[in-house]
Amino acid sequence: MNQVDYLRISLIDRCNFRCQYCMPEGAELNYILKQQLLTDEEILTLIQEVFIPLGFTRFRLTGGEPLLRPSVVDLVSKIANLPQTQDLAMTTNGFLLAPMAQNLYDAGLRRINISLDSLEADTFEQIIGNHGRGRWQQVWEGIQAAYQVGFDPLKLNVVVIPGINDHEILNLAALTIDKQWHIRFIEFMPIGNEHLFSARGWISSADLRQRIYERWGLTESQVYGNGPADVFQIPGAKGTLGFISQMSECFCDRCNRVRLSADGWLRPCLLNETSQIDLKTSLRAGISTAQLREQVKQLLNIKAEINFKQRDSGTSGTYTRTMSQIGG
Ligand code: SAM
Ligand code: SF4
Repeated sequence: MNQVDYLRISLIDRCNFRCQYCMPEGAELNYILKQQLLTDEEILTLIQEVFIPLGFTRFRLTGGEPLLRPSVVDLVSKIANLPQTQDLAMTTNGFLLAPMAQNLYDAGLRRINISLDSLEADTFEQIIGNHGRGRWQQVWEGIQAAYQVGFDPLKLNVVVIPGINDHEILNLAALTIDKQWHIRFIEFMPIGNEHLFSARGWISSADLRQRIYERWGLTESQVYGNGPADVFQIPGAKGTLGFISQMSECFCDRCNRVRLSADGWLRPCLLNETSQIDLKTSLRAGISTAQLREQVKQLLNIKAEINFKQRDSGTSGTYTRTMSQIGG
């Protein structure tokens, strides 16, 4: 079992998109009320007094859409400036990124993942469930801004859904040839999206890799912050292609992360709801941070025993929270 030293922190469960695979139409989202969100002070207390003393040094800010949190730049600065922080990254849909990219960089953020499931404006708008025009263009401008500001590595997350965007696999992969962008293909997971998942199914990383290999060939590669991705490169390309195969492979023995939801639930594994603990309620009830550390230690022991394949009960219906609510 790996040392668990990586905390993914959801800053907010709301989002300005409604991606079909993440917040499907009809999903009960029950947004967290403002007073139930962890405050900036609570997030910092948990990082400094609970997680850092337990050896955590790497943090990722996510959501929902993290750029919707008004204090996001300030939080980045405070976390980046902690002497123990070795790595701070963010996952965003990029929609609000262009005007914020420089401020986030100046505040200390260096690594960013931007979700981009399509290069076609129409397909993109179909996926994000919002047909306001110009959304793709605005995300594209966010990506360009992040690139110019110097985020490195700059990763683009792609979830491939059969019949929706799988015809774009080669076009997306081709982005890495001329630009030092790192595409990460994430296998589509059945979390809170039963209807879409059973209607469309999913494509394995092996299948995606084969399609790309047949076009260009692939060599093994690596990029900073690999996490669970298997990384390859089109020969001669500037960027890389990562494949995250949480559906087709079990990489639990390599898993080094836990997730803190925007309302303070800490879960040991993406697919485990039964062992999560409610840190916010404990903190607000005046439980000492020393006691909270003990609770987190116990959760880490449970994590060591959890196997991704032994998830709660294996059907999407089990998961009461969508990815946007868990903090993807
Ligand atoms: N809003 C931000 C974004 O979209 O990048 C951050 C939160 S989002 C939940 C984080 C990541 O989870 C995104 O890259 C998204 O594509 C991925 N994701 C969401 N639902 C998923 C699903 N059902 N299967 C696989 N990946 C999913
Ligand atoms: Fe929002 Fe990200 Fe979920 Fe899409 S994947 S709905 S952008 S939280």
